[in-house]
Amino acid sequence: MDWHQGTCYLNGKWMPLADASISVLDRGFIFGDGVYEVIPVDTVDGIRAPFHARPHYARLQRSLDAVRISNPFSLEQWLDLTAELIDRHPWPRQLIYVQVTRGVAKRDHPFPTGVTPTVFMNSTPWPQIPAEQIENGVSAVTHADERWLHCDIKSISLLGNVLMKQYAMDHGASETVMLRDGFLTEGSSTNTMLVKDGVVIAPLKTVQILPGITYDAVFDIARAHGLKTERRPVAEAELRSADEVWLSSSGREVLAITRLDGKPVGNGRPGPVYQQVQAWMQQAKREDALAWKAERDGRTRAT
Ligand code: PMP
Repeated sequence: MDWHQGTCYLNGKWMPLADASISVLDRGFIFGDGVYEVIPVDTVDGIRAPFHARPHYARLQRSLDAVRISNPFSLEQWLDLTAELIDRHPWPRQLIYVQVTRGVAKRDHPFPTGVTPTVFMNSTPWPQIPAEQIENGVSAVTHADERWLHCDIKSISLLGNVLMKQYAMDHGASETVMLRDGFLTEGSSTNTMLVKDGVVIAPLKTVQILPGITYDAVFDIARAHGLKTERRPVAEAELRSADEVWLSSSGREVLAITRLDGKPVGNGRPGPVYQQVQAWMQQAKREDALAWKAERDGRTRAT
């Protein structure tokens, strides 16, 4: 099955993706007035499961609260919809997309009253992360962070991020790492962290970055295995003199950035701490999949 033959969920109904349509007056279309999530699904030890589904829906709640759109579903309803969406597709690896916009109204900036949020969910196959990228790392370029100051909200208004991703493409790089006033923020669609003298260091969770689910997972894993971690402002000079630099996201997991602005990071190879974290991450996915299965089995029995 090709990705465009998939089934989607739109405003209470399941339908072929090709048949789904919304009003041109949807505020998501007109203003970018909405929020979203992307949840990775992988098959580990024969169990097909989303990774960290609950934290994704907790972050969705946080984004909805921040823009004052009421959450149309309970956490359990979201998890049920997610399970059904996964089951409706044959792919062992999927990316689940969830979008909620403020809804359809006459074009006018203030929040409309009495409007129902638009809810859209679909799944696409999630290709394997290229082994070459895991083994050799990827390249990144830096750019001033010119986005707004609500980067902690997972807003669908992504033009600033899109321009930064294209900047990477235009410069033959895989990602753009952004700096604001001389301090590291994040990548165009990834968080950025580094290793210096064995310590994993990442920017604080402020309005300047998205609180990444993968970034949190990496930190939890690193700490659980006894690594030292620090969340604090990271000056540009520290980024440029790091032993290792990593990017993280739901779609790319953790990858080493081995070239930054054309110069090697550390010795230009994915470092030893990266290799450990990468292996621990696979273990964490295994544990998460088992917990998801136990929870779904329990829920099926209860209903
Ligand atoms: N920062 C930005 C700007 C992103 O778009 C993303 C991915 N959506 C991330 C960080 C990584 O977040 P997560 O690990 O939750 O996918």
